Amino acid sequence: MKALVFHAHGGLEQVGVADVPEPVIGPDEVLLEVKAAAFNRLDLWVLAGWPGLKLKLPHVMGSDGAGIVAQVGSNVRSVAVGDRVAVNPTVGCGRCFFCQAGNEHMCDRFAILGEHLDGFAAAYTAVPARNLVKMPADYPFTHAAAASLVFVTAWHSLITVGALQAGESALIVGAGGGVNTAAIQIAKLAGADPIYVVGSNAAKLAQAEQLGADVLINRAEADWGKAIFQATNRQGVDVVVDNVGAATFFTSLRALKKGGRLLTVGNTSGPRFEFDNRLIFAKHLRILGSTMGPHRDYEKVMGLLFDGRLHPILDAIYPLHEGRAALQKLQDGDVMGKLVLTTDS
Ligand code: ZN
Repeated sequence: MKALVFHAHGGLEQVGVADVPEPVIGPDEVLLEVKAAAFNRLDLWVLAGWPGLKLKLPHVMGSDGAGIVAQVGSNVRSVAVGDRVAVNPTVGCGRCFFCQAGNEHMCDRFAILGEHLDGFAAAYTAVPARNLVKMPADYPFTHAAAASLVFVTAWHSLITVGALQAGESALIVGAGGGVNTAAIQIAKLAGADPIYVVGSNAAKLAQAEQLGADVLINRAEADWGKAIFQATNRQGVDVVVDNVGAATFFTSLRALKKGGRLLTVGNTSGPRFEFDNRLIFAKHLRILGSTMGPHRDYEKVMGLLFDGRLHPILDAIYPLHEGRAALQKLQDGDVMGKLVLTTDS
């Protein structure tokens, strides 16, 4: 079957379409006929590799996918051949202490489809049946693929971990990425008010406003830390969503109200930085980290997407054989939403 793969870690020159064997499923898995896949920044990091990452090569890229069940393992009762399904890319073992408590995202053998395991940029992929959610007949595969990773991540961070409440003020640092565009909508749905968004240009901020942002701050034009300080009457905000990391964390901590929470699921600008600990204890701050999300959160947030109460933002759709061009666009950083692949030729 055709798949977008890399045979060795490195840059985009390692990526191409190849013929690889169709996956063979286990008793608790299904074979998914992939209809749409989507990329995340994670794909570029996996391609580059890091010490300790040991993948079976060639590696099939793409952590997001949706499609039709083509075959079911002998233990699978929850779905049947022909079902339209979306897939939570968070994989747990199903047996450890954390999985038994419904916290697959904390599993001792935690894995992400497309990262530690083969992904969705292929005609078929093998996925655990417990990761599936059935889709309504009229919901597009492209939208389900675009939504999965970023919406389960943002929902788990803001709602389950962050316990964002109606009437709380929220600041989202970044306007263009998939997690941030999901976070703005989820904050709005939760009743956060006002919602501040810091963005790098007018187009991304205009999109953030459409998604529910109340106050827009262009970091190219203003010191955003000062702008928040002034806009909140020197009080700061209840909750900051910061997935930028090194470049912004210090300012984000300063932007919090006493007792405020900083939510983080990643660090696009780098993982290491220093901060003044007095900021944390003297202001009674909490830093709450998470990664991905358990299946109960995935079911909840996908239900809201299927009902039209949340919307994935699609930047562009490419056919599978142009997958490397999509990754190039992601690497160049000029994206406003998700880059999606379709496998129908
Ligand atoms: Zn487990």
